[in-house]
Amino acid sequence: MNPFTFTRAGSVPEAVRAMGTPQARYLAGGTNLIDLMKENVEHPAALVDINRLGLGDIEELPNGGLRLGALASNADTARHPLVMKRYPLLASAILAGASPQLRNAATNGGNLNQRTRCYYFYDTATPCNKRNPGSGCSAIGGVNRIHAILGASDSCIATHPSDMCVALAALDAVVQVTGPEGEREIPFAEYHRLPGNTPQQDTTLRPGELVTAIDLPAEDFSAHYTYLKLRDRLSYAFALVSVAVALRMDGDRIAEARLAMGGVAHKPWRVPDAEQVLKGQQASAENFARAAELLLQGAKGQGENNFKIGLARRAIRRALWQAAVGTPQSQTDKRIA
Ligand SMILES: Cc1cc2nc3c(=O)[nH]c(=O)nc-3n(C[C@H](O)[C@H](O)[C@H](O)COP(=O)(O)OP(=O)(O)OC[C@H]3O[C@@H](n4cnc5c(N)ncnc54)[C@H](O)[C@@H]3O)c2cc1C
Ligand code: SF4
Repeated sequence: MNPFTFTRAGSVPEAVRAMGTPQARYLAGGTNLIDLMKENVEHPAALVDINRLGLGDIEELPNGGLRLGALASNADTARHPLVMKRYPLLASAILAGASPQLRNAATNGGNLNQRTRCYYFYDTATPCNKRNPGSGCSAIGGVNRIHAILGASDSCIATHPSDMCVALAALDAVVQVTGPEGEREIPFAEYHRLPGNTPQQDTTLRPGELVTAIDLPAEDFSAHYTYLKLRDRLSYAFALVSVAVALRMDGDRIAEARLAMGGVAHKPWRVPDAEQVLKGQQASAENFARAAELLLQGAKGQGENNFKIGLARRAIRRALWQAAVGTPQSQTDKRIA
């Protein structure tokens, strides 16, 4: 057993102060952190319970956007009338993840900071640079069916497992944080990192920083969107490949395109050129194939996951069609039509 202190913070400044050591962790819904502690993967010296900070609201912003409290549950966020009406891409991505029970407990801040599902990360008998820096990567040359095809390094080929974050990336969300040095905003594209030679660090959060909210810009992609998630079974499984698409159509031409992929890299994957190439173009198989090639430029399999490259190519093209014709993937009937 690993002893740890437990503090229930009553305010944001109190929570930040209580994170006195790098070995401390914020505790939200606990659906990932407590598992990691039970598996002996993480052994924090201190837990700071943030559930009473009053960060559970979802409210409109003066600029027309929407602020999602870090402590709002994934379930409440997905079912919020404004999220369903104005950001159905986000609602769909959240509902594609985990199970109803987990989504009731899981929070938005926790979802951003959940850790990889690489098998070796959870298996403390094996080397893993993310869990134990410098020990090696068991997935390279090992069992790597679920691993990255983009942005990986010689130190780590893990993927980020979140569905919600793929939609947040496509929507250009902004993460609000407060830490020992005050408040700051992090554009979503800069929140998660590629592994490089420091895979132990998943995000650009500085020590002690707390996510307080996630802001969604005012842009409305509610007519042409889809979150297409492909996995080994239809429910309760992490993505092998997922694609979030948000389009603004002008007749049959694409006025603006947003494309993000999950299950393929250490962070939600976006490539500006893949979106730019669609701008002003017709929705067509040829144009969608071109965007898919750009989004997958540099993709490299690790052996067991080579199939992901072809799967991703087909998923991007299908997702673009679903969004263009306004028939998004249903998250209650998950069959792929
Ligand atoms: C069986 C199972 C299946 C799942 N399937 C899916 C799936 O298909 N798709 C998917 O996207 N997710 C899936 N999940 C993951 C689930 O979405 C996450 O566990 C959940 O979102 C984490 O939220 P939490 O509030 O419980 O975080 P916690 O477990 O409390 O915390 C997770 C991490 O985030 C940190 N943290 C929490 N809140 C903050 C904050 N406000 N600021 C800074 N750091 C913070 C904690 O310190 C910890 O390191 C699954 C989980 C399980 C157990
Ligand atoms: S891929 Fe990353 S998380 Fe998995 S074993 Fe290698 S270093 Fe660890």
